[in-house]
Parts: sequence; C-alpha cells; structure tokens
Amino acid sequence: MLESVELANACADQFESGLLTGRHVVVTAGPTREALDPVRYLSNHSSGKMGFAIAEACVEAGARVTLIAGPVSLPTPARLKRVNVVSADEMLLAAQAAVEGADVFVATAAVADYRPARVAEQKIKKSADVIALELIKNPDIVATIAARPDRPFVLGFAAETEKVIEHAREKLLRKKLDMIACNDVSRADIGFASDENAMIVFFAEQYQLQKRDLEKAPKQEIAQQLVEAIHDALHHEIEPV
Ligand code: C5P
Repeated sequence: MLESVELANACADQFESGLLTGRHVVVTAGPTREALDPVRYLSNHSSGKMGFAIAEACVEAGARVTLIAGPVSLPTPARLKRVNVVSADEMLLAAQAAVEGADVFVATAAVADYRPARVAEQKIKKSADVIALELIKNPDIVATIAARPDRPFVLGFAAETEKVIEHAREKLLRKKLDMIACNDVSRADIGFASDENAMIVFFAEQYQLQKRDLEKAPKQEIAQQLVEAIHDALHHEIEPV
C-alpha cells in the first residue's frame, strides 16, 4: 500500500514532467536544539524558510521529497514527507535513513556546531556567579552523507560574514560537496529571518560548470534557481578519466 504522499506524487508524475521528475530529494532545514537541562537549550536564529522553499521547489519540479526539519514554526508544504527532529544527533539519524537510495541531499539546516557535554537531569540551579559549560562537537551531517559510498548528489550551504567566496570554496572541497550555495550574512537585508536571499553557487570541478550569481530575490525564486542548478549539474557531470 502506498503512503498518501507517494500516491499523490505518483499521480502528479502522470501529468507533469519537471526538472527533477523521478528523483528523490532529501532536504534538511531549520536549526537544531541542543539540550542543557530539561528546560534550556543551545540553538540559533535559523527560520527554516530557505530549506522549506527548496523542498517546495523540488516538489514543484516533480521530485519525491523528504524534508527533515529542526524546530521551526512553518507549515508543512504540500506533497512531501516531513520528519521532525530536535538535536543534531537526531537530524543525522533521520538523514542517514532518508538518503538510502536518494538522488540528491540538500543541507540547508543550521546545525548547532557544539552540544553540551552533559545534559543535566534536573533544572540547573542558579548559585555560583560564573559557571563553565563544556561543549563537544556535533557530527557534520552533510560531510557524513557525502562520505557514504552510495552518496547522492550533495548540495551544501555556507553562510559567511567575511571572505565569502574563499570560505565557500574551501568548504566545497573539505566536505566533498558537489555544489555549494553561499551568502554573506553580514548583509542586513538578506539571510536568516529574511524572506529574501542572494547567493553565489559553485560546483565541484568535475561538473565543469561556471559559478552562478543568484541576485537578491524572494527565497522561493532563489530556490527555483537552485533546483535548475541541481538539474544542470546532474546532467553535466563529466565522467572522471
Ligand atoms: O561548517 P558550516 O556549518 O559552515 O557548513 C555549513 C553547511 O554544512 C550547511 O550545508 C549545513 O547544513 C551543513 N552542516 C551539517 N552539519 C553540521 C554543520 C553544518 O550538515 N554539523
């Protein structure tokens, strides 16, 4: 028996042929939350809007989409499967399960870089004037997926405040991504909570594709241009000799 999302997509496929028809795309979105105690956590300001816009654009392009969402207050777009997670560890587990046999992995999530080394069982009491917090590094989800032998096409993001292009190119190589979309989050008019974004896209060398400048536009439009870039890369890969 097909799940209702799969059934809807199968029906839609009969009528549409989009840039990603027949592809399974997994998208991570939003922040992660790392518990300190039962009532407190470490997190960031990611709204999840960019990831949700990409997930929607992939559905519109005919893909079957699994959206792995951190804690955000956004409604679930139509015709996709949403998996809600809280922490980076949970997001990694959900991503590992979802990418089995997937064609594309899009990592828009603003994963917390560190988590508390210990989660207090009870609410931490206020006593000392200064307390130290020991933090340990979270797993790098996109790099873990890119290191799989059966890796899908992997798109990562880089939100930078300086040397945007240099840092993005370094991240593309270090995390073994196929494509990276970077933006300058020091610009007040775009980024995290904003409805607009502007990005520069780079491809891994084997695609032999030029970088693309995506001018400031609503996140939905940027998402559509990213879908086009994914499609182009999927059709332009040059077999290594
Ligand atoms: O290293 P940095 O956080 O700048 O890298 C950003 C990219 O890596 C994004 O695509 C983000 O979703 C992904 N990432 C991840 N897991 C982490 C940290 C970042 O998937 N722990």
